[in-house]
Amino acid sequence: MTSSIKTTASCADPWDVDSISVTRALTQIEGNISQLQESETLPIRDCLGRISSEAVISPINVPGHANSAMDGFAVAGASLPADGIVELNEIGTAYAGKIFNGVCRENECVRIMTGAVIPEGTDTVIMQEQVEQLDNQTIRIGADHRAGENVRAAGEDIKLGEPVLQRGSKINPADLGILASLGIGTLKVIRKPIVAFFSTGDELVSIDKPLEKGEIHDSNRYTLHGMLSQLKVDILDMGVIRDEPEAIRAGLLDAAKKADMIITTGGVSVGEADYIKPVLDEIGQTEFWKIAIKPGRPLTFGSIGDSIFMGLPGNPVAVMVTFSLFVTHAIRTLAGAPFSEAPLLKVRSLQDMRKKPGRSEYLRGIVSRDKDNEWQVEKTGMQGSGILSSMSRANCFIVLPAENDGVKKGDVVDILLFDLA
Ligand code: AMP
Ligand code: MG
Repeated sequence: MTSSIKTTASCADPWDVDSISVTRALTQIEGNISQLQESETLPIRDCLGRISSEAVISPINVPGHANSAMDGFAVAGASLPADGIVELNEIGTAYAGKIFNGVCRENECVRIMTGAVIPEGTDTVIMQEQVEQLDNQTIRIGADHRAGENVRAAGEDIKLGEPVLQRGSKINPADLGILASLGIGTLKVIRKPIVAFFSTGDELVSIDKPLEKGEIHDSNRYTLHGMLSQLKVDILDMGVIRDEPEAIRAGLLDAAKKADMIITTGGVSVGEADYIKPVLDEIGQTEFWKIAIKPGRPLTFGSIGDSIFMGLPGNPVAVMVTFSLFVTHAIRTLAGAPFSEAPLLKVRSLQDMRKKPGRSEYLRGIVSRDKDNEWQVEKTGMQGSGILSSMSRANCFIVLPAENDGVKKGDVVDILLFDLA
């Protein structure tokens, strides 16, 4: 008789031959999603965070005319003294938005404000602080000036004909300002992906009902709603579906008709009430269903008709970790957003962390400054995948790669900052 029983791989094991690496999962997600093609034209204010489906070429120079970068006096560079002092007569004033229409001749200057067009006959602005004003009519300028100083050239920001936006760029606040400065009021952007989601589980009760023994409130639908609301997607909340294959099948088929992407939570593991994967295999296609990651190993990725399917685990922390890593990547791919990997920062760990090599771990951490102003990180306490409060207190993930075999206090670890805006 042997002293141990034969077991299959589980989420308690550090290694499962069927699971794939985080990098491979991301690559497979990218490879299986085609970008949305339909676009819509919107006022530029509504385009923030959206993906441009057109390139924009500047129809004008910005600035349109050479103008002053300072309040001061516009002069001809040729009249500046090589040494000694020159006296000039003030013949008028140029304001931003109010042109000085005269011509500046030898021994003359024009009082000028920031943003005002450089008057004819001048090419240089002397700051008013560097000028001696003799009376209302006359100023004195010393040496140490350079012809052309304090003048912004026409087109120095953007030139006529220059490309200012590529197709596929994600619109940021500076882009809105640039489009406005070009007099462009609308932009063609990729339409928002429609994302439908539901929770599964017989134990789930809505938040307005008291709990009977064994029941829990459906919290995942609220964290999912929160995370989806931070993205540029249209959200379709489809409620809770019982752990019954027929109900799950009907829910998934309905969602597939309405949405570009379907997200579910729960029912993706190997329990007797876990029906997501068998139903997906029947009505759609599974690309992968296990990732070498903790928390969040069972994550089912596939498709139903033209819709992408992402079956997240049921444990609340696993939902948030897999959403941050994989759902955001899938939505970005769907919307055609440029890939930008969030940078990991290296900081010192305040404590030991036990880990076996095999899968990547995403611990919840709090990053702060130590007394020498250096960054440090500590865990938020209990790290079980059901401890949602660990996520609420955290401001970063502590990322331990698959090969890591434990951390000692004082070691440098990678952290992934949450969006702190
Ligand atoms: P499952 O993946 O369905 O086996 O669920 C794993 C764990 O997550 C169980 O303890 C569930 O009760 C819990 N869970 C599943 N769905 C939810 C939900 N919508 N809100 C909160 N906890 C959930
Ligand atoms: Mg369940």
